[in-house]
Amino acid sequence: MAQKTVLIVYAHQSLGSFNSAVRDVAAKELSKQGYRVIVSDLYAMNFKANSTQDDIIGDLENPELFQYGEETMRAWMKGCLSDDIKAEQRKVKEAELIIFQFPLYWFSVPAIMKGWMDRVLTQGFAFSLEKMYNNGIFKDKKAMLSFTTGATESMFRPDGINGDINVTLWPLQNGTLHFCGFQVLAPQIFWNPAHCPLAVRTAMLQGWHERLKGLLAEKPLTFAPCEFFGLNFQQGFLLLPQVKEEQQSNTYGITTGHHLGKPLPPDNQTKAHSPDD
Ligand SMILES: Cc1cc2nc3c(=O)[nH]c(=O)nc-3n(C[C@H](O)[C@H](O)[C@H](O)COP(=O)(O)OP(=O)(O)OC[C@H]3O[C@@H](n4cnc5c(N)ncnc54)[C@H](O)[C@@H]3O)c2cc1C
Repeated sequence: MAQKTVLIVYAHQSLGSFNSAVRDVAAKELSKQGYRVIVSDLYAMNFKANSTQDDIIGDLENPELFQYGEETMRAWMKGCLSDDIKAEQRKVKEAELIIFQFPLYWFSVPAIMKGWMDRVLTQGFAFSLEKMYNNGIFKDKKAMLSFTTGATESMFRPDGINGDINVTLWPLQNGTLHFCGFQVLAPQIFWNPAHCPLAVRTAMLQGWHERLKGLLAEKPLTFAPCEFFGLNFQQGFLLLPQVKEEQQSNTYGITTGHHLGKPLPPDNQTKAHSPDD
């Protein structure tokens, strides 16, 4: 049987950073479990972050009005994407799990990692209108965010100054990872490592190490399945009337994004829940 693969997409500039320590804990533990661990160290690779015509080898279909999404889809079909994109797409295909390891920048991933998402997860390769969310191309794969913050945990509570972390995570976890079909594992969040004592940082790394031992068996986060929606332009991709009716008596919205004007389901983007919770 082929060896199973984990891809760590990693974005930090410094070898001595906390992110680097977190990445090393994951690589070591997952290797010990028998996984082949590949690390895409984006800054070390000088990974190109911007989506440009250079990402396509050969003639463009429409050079007068360059449309990145259309051109990269055609180039993917013809095998004409640039070598760096092809190399990352090969890694994605091989991986059973992708861990995105990064410091939170402006409530999101650093630009170099956003560039990886923009350029690697091209239409056709990673998604199509027919294949998205729970029917998505990578539905048999898992993905997760593992990140450090400058803020404390209380700052990212619903009553904290930054607002609810579940809202912050929705675009990346639902809009990118789950959109491509990935089963999204609960994020690993390292709160404010730069301003906590060494003992706390050491405990955070130990907690991560413990979690890694059962990581691939974890239940993923809950999202609204495509079957809840009218899946064509005529129906507007809207929640089906019968689903809306069924949801009416529920206290909470379906997900962080599909809140239906109700309170957000607690921890929807940070913890996996069983259907009976
Ligand atoms: C452009 C930008 C935007 C930002 N936006 C946000 C934002 O929106 N929200 C937010 O919350 N924050 C934000 N930040 C802050 C940023 O997220 C934090 O600075 C970052 O997450 C800290 O992680 P680090 O790996 O760089 O920490 P480091 O500073 O590298 O590490 C923290 C400490 O851990 C120590 N360490 C390293 N290895 C180990 C080890 N093995 N064991 C124990 N200790 C170790 C280091 O020596 C250091 O003392 C932003 C920062 C920038 C630059």
